[in-house]
Amino acid sequence: MEIKVIQSGELKEKPSDESALGFGQIFTDHMFLVDYDDKKGWHNARIEPYHPLEIDPAAVVLHYGQEIFEGLKAYRGKDDSINLFRPADNFRRMNKSAQRLCMPEIEEGIAMEALKKLITLDREWVPKAEGTSLYIRPTMIATEAFLGVRPASKCLYYIIIGPVGSYYKEGLNPVKIFVEDKYVRAVVGGIGEAKTGGNYAASLLATEEAKKKGFTQVLWLDGCEKKWVEEVGTMNMFFVIDDVALTSPLTGSILGGITRDSVIRILKDWGVKVKEKLVSIDEVVSAAESGRLKEAFGTGTAAVISPVGQITYKDKDYSIAGGKMGELSQRLYDEITGIQYGEKPDTYGWVEKVC
Ligand code: PMP
Repeated sequence: MEIKVIQSGELKEKPSDESALGFGQIFTDHMFLVDYDDKKGWHNARIEPYHPLEIDPAAVVLHYGQEIFEGLKAYRGKDDSINLFRPADNFRRMNKSAQRLCMPEIEEGIAMEALKKLITLDREWVPKAEGTSLYIRPTMIATEAFLGVRPASKCLYYIIIGPVGSYYKEGLNPVKIFVEDKYVRAVVGGIGEAKTGGNYAASLLATEEAKKKGFTQVLWLDGCEKKWVEEVGTMNMFFVIDDVALTSPLTGSILGGITRDSVIRILKDWGVKVKEKLVSIDEVVSAAESGRLKEAFGTGTAAVISPVGQITYKDKDYSIAGGKMGELSQRLYDEITGIQYGEKPDTYGWVEKVC
């Protein structure tokens, strides 16, 4: 697919202090866009200066939430090369989300070409400081203008990118998590395993209430029995009980995280026991009480590994790993970030060079 490029005549000022980047607030000079309609298919691929979208107030996305997105990162290596981490998995997951939301799929090769071209054009924006990266947000929205519930015949796919630092203000320090037993995020058969805005909208109120009580995030239990631990805001969860790392299977109500999959593969190769199995919150708290819960951590693109230092369930606090980052969490963080920044050998073939 031909990609037209209109370069920005007025480049923005880049952030001067890379240690204060925060997350998701700064965007680069350009964006990628491509239109879809059910007659022409995908057409009019272009890179343009970053700009607000003009959208009909009746556009389906604004009323019925027909939209999907992805999140991945590009990293600047020591040799100044810019690399992506498992990008094909993000594009595959996006197509899975597209099927669930009745949206058109995008061929992986086209998505990759567009992304590489955009990053190459804005490569000066990829930050250099330790722990920083370029966050990438591919998004698809239903743009057809009509009121009524059916899949839209017109969509827009776009990619925006921007330099980021750490996702949580705590950085690598352990976070405090509230086990949510009132609200639910998703149920099996719903849209929990798709990366779509509705899931995040559903999580806002619980998270706000938890934040007011001093927590960073909520740990979701399954939507039917409120018994099985599922995932945290934007992370999958692992609990190390005795010498086994446990994580929820992909039941249909949680997102199949790419970091989760990387952790499972690395742990297996290290000879650490890892099991995808339903874990009840009762099992977690009784392991915490008896000292068998050695570590708990979340996994996700934004934070990579986020150690959990405390969980609170039904008004009772349970401290984990003495409120410090556990040994396994640290080792996994070092391994994955080492691969991402090109400091450790990429034995899995996970790194894809951009430029
Ligand atoms: N669960 C949810 C709900 C998420 O939004 C994310 C972030 N994409 C994850 C888990 C972790 O997925 P990944 O490791 O692919 O970033």
